[in-house]
Amino acid sequence: MYLRDGKLPSDGMHEECGVFGVYSNETRDVAHTVYYGLFALQHRGQESCGIAVAYADKINYYKGMGLVPEVFSGGRLSQLPEGDIAIGHVRYSTSGASLAVNAQPVVFTGKCGRTALAHNGNLTNAAALRAELIRDNAVFQTSVDSEVLALLINKYSDGDIVKGVLAACSKLCGSYALVVMTADKLIAVRDPYGIRPLAIGRALDDVVIASESCALDAAGAAFERDVQPGEVFVVDAKGERSYFLEKKEPAACIFEYVYFARPDSVIDGLSVYAARREAGHILARNSRIEADVVSGVPDSGLAAAHGYSEVSGIPCVEALSKNRYVGRTFIQPEQGMRESSVSVKLNALRANIEGKRVIIIDDSIVRGTTSRKIVRLLREGGAKEVHMMAASPVVRHPCRLGIDIENYSQLIGANKSVEEICRFIGADTLTFMTVEQLKQSCRGARLGFCTGCFDGQCPYPPQAVRESKSQFD
Ligand code: SF4
Repeated sequence: MYLRDGKLPSDGMHEECGVFGVYSNETRDVAHTVYYGLFALQHRGQESCGIAVAYADKINYYKGMGLVPEVFSGGRLSQLPEGDIAIGHVRYSTSGASLAVNAQPVVFTGKCGRTALAHNGNLTNAAALRAELIRDNAVFQTSVDSEVLALLINKYSDGDIVKGVLAACSKLCGSYALVVMTADKLIAVRDPYGIRPLAIGRALDDVVIASESCALDAAGAAFERDVQPGEVFVVDAKGERSYFLEKKEPAACIFEYVYFARPDSVIDGLSVYAARREAGHILARNSRIEADVVSGVPDSGLAAAHGYSEVSGIPCVEALSKNRYVGRTFIQPEQGMRESSVSVKLNALRANIEGKRVIIIDDSIVRGTTSRKIVRLLREGGAKEVHMMAASPVVRHPCRLGIDIENYSQLIGANKSVEEICRFIGADTLTFMTVEQLKQSCRGARLGFCTGCFDGQCPYPPQAVRESKSQFD
């Protein structure tokens, strides 16, 4: 069980995967470069990971369940051969079960020889494409939509991987940031809406691809640019070139700025930290709450709390102390123990809050259970008043584009009014941003946004069934 920001997997939204790739002009230990990149992308997926290396006309790979250092411990990293191209993947499962067989990269032998693929996102038409491929006599080994993608690329490639990628991507609905590798090519693809991020960097003559710029930094590469929506970027011995899929109105996932991405990443020209801090500025400008201190829920609420303090003049303090050593190994065998898990991860700092009116800012409120526990912790720690704020709007809709909230019943914002949520979490007041305010906090980004989980406005509208009974009834 892995807790991020004190949240159980059932408490918040969770990103689905990070991808990384490197193309080197010389044969070297490219697997190590991917290792550092995946380590920096660990926040995007903690269930499984893998690295594939191309050398001569072969691909060797290793993948398994667990965190990057766990999977590649015991000399497994150095057992991967030297090569000139490598890709890697960290996975949080939403499509396909959390099993070793579903770990990526997907490696196969097809019309272009040995090929490997790693995918971040979710294909909304994967079931139809899978049925079509099975009718064409394809066989599947896994339940992940990324294997559908692999077989589709192979089907249309006719021995030309770029042709296969272009044709396969023209059939896809949903979100995808991809790295594809053959023995002599590295290809990076971002879907036409640019829903999931993907960046290009350079380390001397090496080309490096990563889900987030923080992974380029970790791999010693300088950020060069974002892969553009709909761009198919190819690098091989002939050089670098780009092809483009059918143009769409960009709709990058705004939740990357709210929660998913690391604060030290820059996505589509906008620093994630700057967007979160600006959200705090906007919350403060629109707030009439009188308070003695403001604080952020570690880690993704901290930048907004600093921003709030800068505008309001209310001192920013640590109200919650985070145990940074709670990781996957923290297993909770019983439901009763799950209840106490937030207190294991977070504890109130009595010295900073006792007798005080506290504003506590979290990045978002998805199911409400974590917020309820945080409010209780602060009250038990002596806070006189607890005013909860979310640095985002009410999450009212599920996401089908790579995030693990599938049903309205899982979302407190789809089932309760703001006043009812406030009562549920036990706060004195509860404040959300509006969608317009959130967009304003991200106005420095070069792309337009998907805001589907807040207002239903996304390239592929939610079709999840509204269940008659929710967990909040
Ligand atoms: S609905 Fe859109 S904004 Fe919300 S998490 Fe999904 S992709 Fe991101």
